[in-house]
Amino acid sequence: MPEPGYLRVADTSTALAALTQYGRSARLIAGGTDLVNLIKEGIERPAVLVDIGRLPLDTVQADGNGLRIGALTTMSAAAGDPALRSGYPAVVEALELSASPQIRNAATIGGNLLQRTRCPYYRAETKLPCNKRQPGSGCAARSGYDRTLAVIGWSDACRACHPSDLAVALVALNAELTIHSPRGSRTVPLAAFYRLPGETPERDSVLEPDEIVIAVRVPPSPAAACSGYLKVRERAPYEFGLVSAAVAVEADGTMIRDVRICLGGVAARPWRLYEVERYLVGRQLTESVVREALALALADARPLKSNGFKIELARRAACRALLELRGRGAVSK
Ligand SMILES: Cc1cc2nc3c(=O)[nH]c(=O)nc-3n(C[C@H](O)[C@H](O)[C@H](O)COP(=O)(O)OP(=O)(O)OC[C@H]3O[C@@H](n4cnc5c(N)ncnc54)[C@H](O)[C@@H]3O)c2cc1C
Repeated sequence: MPEPGYLRVADTSTALAALTQYGRSARLIAGGTDLVNLIKEGIERPAVLVDIGRLPLDTVQADGNGLRIGALTTMSAAAGDPALRSGYPAVVEALELSASPQIRNAATIGGNLLQRTRCPYYRAETKLPCNKRQPGSGCAARSGYDRTLAVIGWSDACRACHPSDLAVALVALNAELTIHSPRGSRTVPLAAFYRLPGETPERDSVLEPDEIVIAVRVPPSPAAACSGYLKVRERAPYEFGLVSAAVAVEADGTMIRDVRICLGGVAARPWRLYEVERYLVGRQLTESVVREALALALADARPLKSNGFKIELARRAACRALLELRGRGAVSK
């Protein structure tokens, strides 16, 4: 396999010019913790790597509209930021439960949100059919191992799950992405950023090949300040989640005024439970009410052969995460 060319850029406009010049054969590289592995495995074969690691997009800034996290902020720097820790605990917990300290020191927020799926067929050393890797080749999960794959929103072309913990927390907190391209700047809610696979699973998101994620903006709210992230995995350290739940609550006494619930590990994108949220507003934050509400979750799920357990596991994870917020001041006496 020929080695890709390498271009280190010092500003965003040079990076955008390089993406325009090289088109789909170029890839941005930030921390490199995902992309380099994909290149080594022959899954990604870029002709040119555009290294954005030195762009001045590595700060977390607070203003009246919440927090702006630069796309090149490392996961560990973001997790250590005092404003993020006090106002958005679900984000910090999602980061601290991701990967290892060494990886978090190199990996960036933008790269985390754009990492590719951990579906074993997409990552397999022996190349098996995978429409995400090789469009038109098929989906080996159709008749194979599917325990870790999606239970909702999947298509016959692809059953892969979205991998990022951070994305689940950010969708729960209504975060938006700032994206630059040669056509200008646009803002995309993270909840609308990721795509379900349909017939084109090779495209994970609505990001165009000539666009760069510049920053994530997280709006402030009382619910964001009382939020949490619960991740269920096969072993405690250093493992992607089977399912996860990001939750946030604002309560008046014990009555819920605002609630957000987003599941991870169930679909090709973070899965927000809007219907459950609407049901809970105006009700009490008690175990029986939360259980009753979460019985509505994933009602349209279509589990695969061996991952039906994820539905109940995700409901229980969300239930536990919500009830744990009572100990974090969600309920005042
Ligand atoms: C052993 C291991 C365990 C892990 N465990 C977890 C886990 O538990 N939870 C979890 O969430 N993640 C986990 N990860 C994934 C890890 O968090 C990602 O590899 C990392 O966040 C990617 O960031 P990066 O800066 O290294 O991205 P890179 O590898 O540099 O890039 C990844 C992708 O993002 C694109 N990209 C990067 N920056 C931008 C930008 N600003 N705009 C547009 N595109 C961009 C690149 O083109 C590339 O396609 C794990 C990784 C490893 C290796």
